[in-house]
Amino acid sequence: MLTVLRKIIQEVNLAHDLEQALAIIVTRVKDAMGVDVCSAYLANDTQQAYVLMATDGLNPSAVGKVSLKFGQGLVSLVAERAEAVNLDNALVHPRFHFIAETGEQEFHSFLGVPIIHHRKVLGVLVVQHIEVRRFEEDETAFLMTMGSQLAGAIAHAEVSGGIVGLNRGTGQGVILDGLPGSPGAALGTALVVYPQADLDAVPERTVTDVEEEVQVFLDAVSLARSDIRALQERLTSLSEENRALFDAYLQLLSSASIVDQVVTRIRGGSWASGALRDTINEHIKVFESMDDPYLAARAEDVRDLGRRILMCLQKTRVAPLPYPDKTILVGEEITASMLAEVPPEKLVGVISARGTTSSHVAILARAMAIPGVVGVKDLPVTRLDGREVIVDGYSGRIYVSPSENVRNEYKRLVREEQTLSADLAELRDLPAETPDGWRIPLYVNTGLVSDLTPSQQSGAEGIGLYRTEFPFMLRDRFPSEDEQCRVYRQVMQAFAPRPVVLRTLDIGGDKSLPYFPIQEENPFLGWRGIRVTLDHPEIFMVQLRAMLRASSGQNNLRLLLPMISSIGELDAALALVERAYSELLEEGVALTRPQIGSMIEVPSLIYQIDSVAKRVDFVSVGTNDLTQYLLAVDRNNSNVASLYDSLSPAVIRALQLIVDGAHRHGRPVSVCGEMAGSPVAAVVLLALGVDSLSMSVSSLPRVKWVLRNISRQKAIALLEEVMKMEDAVQIREYLRDVLVTAGLGSLVRAGSK
Ligand code: PEP
Ligand code: MG
Repeated sequence: MLTVLRKIIQEVNLAHDLEQALAIIVTRVKDAMGVDVCSAYLANDTQQAYVLMATDGLNPSAVGKVSLKFGQGLVSLVAERAEAVNLDNALVHPRFHFIAETGEQEFHSFLGVPIIHHRKVLGVLVVQHIEVRRFEEDETAFLMTMGSQLAGAIAHAEVSGGIVGLNRGTGQGVILDGLPGSPGAALGTALVVYPQADLDAVPERTVTDVEEEVQVFLDAVSLARSDIRALQERLTSLSEENRALFDAYLQLLSSASIVDQVVTRIRGGSWASGALRDTINEHIKVFESMDDPYLAARAEDVRDLGRRILMCLQKTRVAPLPYPDKTILVGEEITASMLAEVPPEKLVGVISARGTTSSHVAILARAMAIPGVVGVKDLPVTRLDGREVIVDGYSGRIYVSPSENVRNEYKRLVREEQTLSADLAELRDLPAETPDGWRIPLYVNTGLVSDLTPSQQSGAEGIGLYRTEFPFMLRDRFPSEDEQCRVYRQVMQAFAPRPVVLRTLDIGGDKSLPYFPIQEENPFLGWRGIRVTLDHPEIFMVQLRAMLRASSGQNNLRLLLPMISSIGELDAALALVERAYSELLEEGVALTRPQIGSMIEVPSLIYQIDSVAKRVDFVSVGTNDLTQYLLAVDRNNSNVASLYDSLSPAVIRALQLIVDGAHRHGRPVSVCGEMAGSPVAAVVLLALGVDSLSMSVSSLPRVKWVLRNISRQKAIALLEEVMKMEDAVQIREYLRDVLVTAGLGSLVRAGSK
C-alpha cells in the first residue's frame, strides 16, 4: 500500500495543473482500491458549493458542472463532520441528494473522506461500489491516508493552476498567504532563484531566440558528454558495473530521445533548463512505473544525468539573466548569498517558500530594509518567474499578477510609507527618550558591511549586534585572521566612538557555512554557536584575535558570546578571550580590554542569571531563540508559526527575571532579538527596565517614535495590566489599541507583529 501511495503522490506532484492532478488521483485510487467509482469534489467558496472536479466511474460530462451546495448531500456531510462517512447503502441515507447527471443511482456503497489542509476542508474524496456493502477498515484507512497526503499536493496544484490560469486572463490575480518576514510593501517583477543543479527547482521561463537557446543546450550536452568521458577515464579503478553506468549515460546522451525531446520543447518556446526538467521528469516517470525493480531503479540514473546536464547548462550560459528593475527575489529558500548577488538598487522585495518571521532570511531582509514574506507554503516557485508580484511584508501576503484595484491600493500604501519614513527621518538626530526623561539607547543589528551606510544614517547610537556569521557565509572557506580583521575594523571605524557589539560565530541551527556543513536531526538543539566554537578553538581563537586586533586604536569593541547554555561554557569561552587578549598584548598590540557580554537565549540561564551577571560586563537577550526554546516552537517551522510569539506571558516573565537578576549585579541588559524592533513590544521592554534595544535599521525610527510618545510611567502601568493577561494574542491586541489611541496607529498595521 505504501508504495502505491508514494507512487500516486509522486505523480500528483509532477502534474502540471489541478485538473491533471485530480484526474491522476481518481484513476489511480480507483485502480488501487478496486472500486467502481472514485471522485473528487472541491470546495468553491464563491459558489458556496462542492464541485465535482474529477471522476472515474461517474458520468464524465458531469465534471465541472455538478455541484452540491454547502450543507447539501453526503459530500457536505463528510466536510461538516471532517471525518470519514462509510455507508453500505447511500441511496437510503437521509442526506443523499439525487443528481441525475452523475449516473450515481446504481452505486450503493459510499465512502467519503475529507481533504483537509491547515484545518481547512478543501474538498472530499469519494469511492463507491455497485454492491451493498460497508467498506472494510483497511479501505477506510487507505482512503483517509490518501486524503491527508494529497491535501498539500492539491492545495499546491490549486495555486499553480490558478497561476497558469492567469495566462488566460482570468483577471483577479492569485493571493497567497505566508508570514510577515520584513515590514513594508513592494511592487515588482518576480525573479526566481534556485540552487545549482536542482532540476525540480528550475523555474518556467520562455525564450524569444529559440535557435540560440537550442545551441546553448547542445553545447551543454557536449560538455556533459566530455565531462562523463573524463570522469570515466580518471576513475580507472572503476568497477565493471560503474563503467557500465557511465556507458549507459553516454548512450542516453547520444540516443535521439532525450536530446531531441528537449530541443522540441525549446522550439515550443521553453528555455533550455525548463525543457530539460520536463523531459527528464517524463523519462523518470516511465522508468518508475516499471514493475521490474532493476528498471525502476534506472530512474535515479536518468535523474542524475539530468542534474549533470543542468550543471553544464548553468556553466555554458555566459550572460547571467538580467535582473528586472524592481526585482522581487523568489525562491524555495533564499540564502544570504542569493540576496547579496542582486544589485541593491534593483532589489525591492523578497519571497521565500521556507522560513518564518525569525529565520535568518527574514532578519537579513529587515537588515536591508527590504519588504519580505516568508513561509509561503504553497508557493509554486517554478511558476512565478517574470510575473508581476506584490509583497505585503506587514500581513505576510503576496499577490501574483494583481488586479488593477489591488495594484492601485498598494501603490498608495507605498507612497504613504514613503511619507511616514520621511516624517520619521526627522527624528534621526533626536534622542530615544520618553516624555518623562527616560533614555534608552537604540542600536542596530547588522552583519553585512554593505548595509553600514543606512545603519550610520539611521541615527543609531551604535551597533548592538553584528552577526559575524554573515561575512563567513559569503565565502567559500573560513576567512583568515587578516581578512576578518579588515571587515571588523571597517565596522568599528564606521561607528567609532559609538559602541560596536561583535558577536562571535553563531553557526548551526539554520545558519550553516557551505564549506563547514552541519547535518543534524535537531539542529536548533544541536551543535550551535558557542558549542561549535568551543569544540574548534582554532577557529574561535582566529576570530577573537581578529576582533581584538581590529579594536586596537578604536576602543569601541564589545564582545558577545552566543548560545551560552551553562556556566561551564561561559567560563571556557571567557578563558579563551583572555588568552587571545594576553597573546596580543605579548605581541605588542595596543589594546584596551573590551567589555564582554553573554547572550541570554537559552532558558537555563534565566535561572542562573546571577552566576552569569557576576562574570560578564553586560547581557544581551536574544529573544528570537529565547522564545523558541521557552515555547518549544521551532522558529523556522511555518507549521507552528502561529504558536511563536515573543509577547507570550512566559517570555515577558522570563525577561523580567533576567532584567532584575542582571540589575542586582549592576549589569546592563540589552535586547537584540527581533522583539526589540516591534513598536508594541517596545512598550513592554521600556516598562521592564531594559537598558538598550538593538534592532534592524528599518525598525529603529518606528521604535524611537513610540518611545518619544509613551512615558515610562505609563508603560509601567500598562505592564501591570499586561501581567494579568494569560495569552499573547490578548496582550498584542491590548498594546496595539494603546498605540492607536496614542496616535501611533500608522506603526501597527493589521497582521503585523
Ligand atoms: C536571537 O536569538 O534573538 C538573536 C539575536 O540571535 P539570532 O537571531 O542570530 O539567532
Ligand atoms: Mg540567537
